Amino acid sequence: MRRKLAAGNWKMNGLAAAMTQAAAIAAHDANGVDVLICPPTTLLTQMANLPMSVGGQDCHANTSGAHTGDISADQLADTGATYTLTGHSERRTDHAETDTMINAKTTAAYAANLSAVVCIGETLSERETNKTLTVIDNQLAYSVPDTATAANTVIAYEPVWAIGTGKVPTNDQIAQVHAHIRARLTKRFTDGTDFRILYGGSVKASNATEIFAIPDVDGALVGGASLNAANFIPIITALAAS
Ligand code: PEP
Repeated sequence: MRRKLAAGNWKMNGLAAAMTQAAAIAAHDANGVDVLICPPTTLLTQMANLPMSVGGQDCHANTSGAHTGDISADQLADTGATYTLTGHSERRTDHAETDTMINAKTTAAYAANLSAVVCIGETLSERETNKTLTVIDNQLAYSVPDTATAANTVIAYEPVWAIGTGKVPTNDQIAQVHAHIRARLTKRFTDGTDFRILYGGSVKASNATEIFAIPDVDGALVGGASLNAANFIPIITALAAS
């Protein structure tokens, strides 16, 4: 039985005042759903005291060293974080992260005892040229380490064109990609059926229930709608009811 996961990615949003939103999210009875917020690093230590999981948004592949502005997986763990995102499309685009780099970062996360939420997904032009499943295959094959297990890894399917745009794939499109990811995981890993697969891209209270009804959707990675409790809590509630 896979535990459902509602994960929020705050990106570069949130000052100290945003802790009131995090506290309200943590105080909500999630009814058995795992709740994770990945805030900016500045809020991690404080947020790690709340009764929910917290995670980084990225980590360096090395444990320490001359890497100005970066953060290591050990440093994330030192704040109390138990997760980190790796391979978010904004990192792939803004920081030219390759699958090989993401694989190394994910391996570093495991070494620090963090679970990794490895993000994969196609661009609009890749979808329009029927390359979605090939892109997913390559990202899964090269971003996800051979040492991945259902305990240390969550896969987040996030079509790049759906992130922050209000556009959402059809239920059939989500179902097709999630089933494909499940098949690949099951083929490659002995515990492939136990990996959690999240959908991400413009999830809101208004579309959460129908997305969570799709087979092999074990939760969501949510950007904008995770920034405040009033928007995120109904998503957690919809997941608990699914
Ligand atoms: C994301 O950034 O991972 C994301 C899914 O963002 P949004 O929910 O705002 O589309």
